[in-house]
Amino acid sequence: MDGLPTPLRCLSECHPAEMFTDDGVDTVTSLEQKKVERSIEEVISVYKQIHSLPQPTLLRDQHYQYLKKGLRHLSDAYECLDASRPWLCFWILHSLELLEEPIPSAVASDVCQFLARCQSPTGGFAGGPGQHAHLAPTYAAVNALCIIGTDEAYSVIDREKLLDFLWSVKQPDGSFVMHVGGEVDVRSAYCAASVATLTNILTPKLFEDTTTWILRCQNWEGGLSGVPGLEAHGGYTFCGTAALVILGKEHMLDLKALLRWVVSRQMRFEGGFQGRCNKLVDGCYSFWQAGLLPLLHRALFKEGESELSRQRWMFEQRALQEYILLCCQNPTGGLLDKPGKSRDFYHTCYCLSGLSIAQHFGNMDLHHELILGKEENRLAPTHPVYNICPDKVSQALQHFHRLPVPGDDRQPDIASAYGPADPGNSRNQKDLPWCCDDTLSSGAKKAETCH
Ligand SMILES: [Zn+2]
Repeated sequence: MDGLPTPLRCLSECHPAEMFTDDGVDTVTSLEQKKVERSIEEVISVYKQIHSLPQPTLLRDQHYQYLKKGLRHLSDAYECLDASRPWLCFWILHSLELLEEPIPSAVASDVCQFLARCQSPTGGFAGGPGQHAHLAPTYAAVNALCIIGTDEAYSVIDREKLLDFLWSVKQPDGSFVMHVGGEVDVRSAYCAASVATLTNILTPKLFEDTTTWILRCQNWEGGLSGVPGLEAHGGYTFCGTAALVILGKEHMLDLKALLRWVVSRQMRFEGGFQGRCNKLVDGCYSFWQAGLLPLLHRALFKEGESELSRQRWMFEQRALQEYILLCCQNPTGGLLDKPGKSRDFYHTCYCLSGLSIAQHFGNMDLHHELILGKEENRLAPTHPVYNICPDKVSQALQHFHRLPVPGDDRQPDIASAYGPADPGNSRNQKDLPWCCDDTLSSGAKKAETCH
């Protein structure tokens, strides 16, 4: 077999045995599941007829053209995302960095100026100029500016006011609302923790009781829900877990239950992930679910788990790549949820992010690549906590750690009433070979020492 590509899992004789069986009872869910499987069967059969060699190709150039156009012009279909414009900047810029396509400096500067107009006079970023600040576009704007990574980009962020904004959405129970007067869910804790670490404004007081609140979101299924007591969901599980990683408290989750839940979300026939139990496969969960595996690998390693692989994450990396490359690419560029759906920038960003996670294990010191198809399919690695490229994370941390943490006397100091900080925070994270978190540990350490 030397020189020949490894046969695809979806072309093997035993693959149809992975199809769903409904035990003779039709339900709306089971019928939908069968419909999706039939559409995927069709895609595989067409692929088999056209290609003699099992070498799925990433349509690099088509994706690049689609993304490049989106940076300058959006069709009317995006009108409904008028309150998510920093998200469009992030989805497109992150997709471009994964494809290792440079952003022309004039475009980068225009994006900086646009995001500056989205920044609220009271701190944080809004979905568009003149709108109210909200944690989701704040996360997207900070990530987009860190991807651009120029002094112009960094200087857009008003860190003092950003900290004011984070305090304005912090709740007494440790949770955060998405915007003043808005809803609480675990996304907000992640968005707040992510922007606070990247820009070096994270203070222990700001995240007091946040760990306890997030831990309440882990339910009997093993995954996390948006708020305590609801159904486990991929997006919320990623947000809650990544927030705990930033706060140095992920070991307080039931890690084994979380692992069991997330690996069970990879679909047996499709190869991609579903967001919740009994739901359909969707390309965007390639990141929200598969992105949990690097976080879990690292957390279990810290706990002294001896059986961990030093080459592979604990999911079927090849099967996910097959799903993304065969079922989620629009032939004219852009990626999508599942066959039959249309492309958009959100799915393009998260399918590519998931593909990157499936291609890269570890970091610089211990790095294994598993690239399905030709070498040209290789994407840049992504940081599993922030979902921007690891060098952009370290560059941002280096830049902002030269600046002082803004004084945090906004709330009375009640930390002492709760006793000393959890010792988990002071664990030595240096000898963790498979996380891109040399940068992260320095950020966490800085946060511990600031008062
Ligand atoms: Zn989706």
